[in-house]
Amino acid sequence: MSKSSAIIDIQSLTKKYKETIALNNLNLQVERGEIFGFLGHNGAGKTTTVNILTTLLAPTSGRAFICGFNVEKEGLEIRKRIGYLPENVKFYENLTAGENLEFFAKLSGIEKPEEKIKSVLNFLDFQKFENKKISQFSKGMRQRIGIAQAIIHDPEVLFLDEPTSGLDPMGVRNLREIILKLNKEKNITIFMNTHLLSEVAKTCTTIGVLGHGELIYKDTLKQTMERFKDENSLETIYFNLDTK
Ligand code: ATP
Repeated sequence: MSKSSAIIDIQSLTKKYKETIALNNLNLQVERGEIFGFLGHNGAGKTTTVNILTTLLAPTSGRAFICGFNVEKEGLEIRKRIGYLPENVKFYENLTAGENLEFFAKLSGIEKPEEKIKSVLNFLDFQKFENKKISQFSKGMRQRIGIAQAIIHDPEVLFLDEPTSGLDPMGVRNLREIILKLNKEKNITIFMNTHLLSEVAKTCTTIGVLGHGELIYKDTLKQTMERFKDENSLETIYFNLDTK
């Protein structure tokens, strides 16, 4: 059982892939209601962390809890409470957006899928694309329907892996607005892996920095900006944390 009040509670998590230590005794807590930006160099272990938290991967040792449930032992309870948007989300290309969502809604056991799909598309201002085939979607549209899929069952926590990757500036801005709206209006805690420091500064309430599988920094964005007030941007702060 998790002793912490944190909605995400990671305790001494280690993951080894043969010789590679991807996570080294990671401890990290994220409180309910936060928008948590998880930063780190390529290969730092961010995706590995998210894969363990979303029950896709077993840790080598250590434990992690979401809403008090153990990710290794209570996968079903976890999957009811989380949504996940991977970096490259997959769809049935020849089906429409609505048909794809219907498939995922039924998988999640949603009783009135049509109503739920309408309300999620409405929330994301995407109703007009319900009957369009995914094969005709741009990257930004795919991202939005990926979010619809990830929130169709009203999760408490949403994991986003590099959500801005491949988006143009308008797409990045639209995504930011959606993330803020999900957090504010649906009270969803967001855990976001990202390289885009400017987005972290505009969106996140708390940041964590991973370096070679270890947490080297965590604080609220506000405290971070106050503590490093002589630096002129989050980018300068990030590079001074010596993550390489
Ligand atoms: P990026 O920002 O490039 O996506 P990341 O922070 O998400 O990187 P991970 O993908 O979690 O990092 O990788 C952490 C380490 O584990 C890296 O050294 C990577 O090469 C290694 N790794 C990840 N997946 C596997 C795997 N399936 N088999 C072997 N090694 C792996």
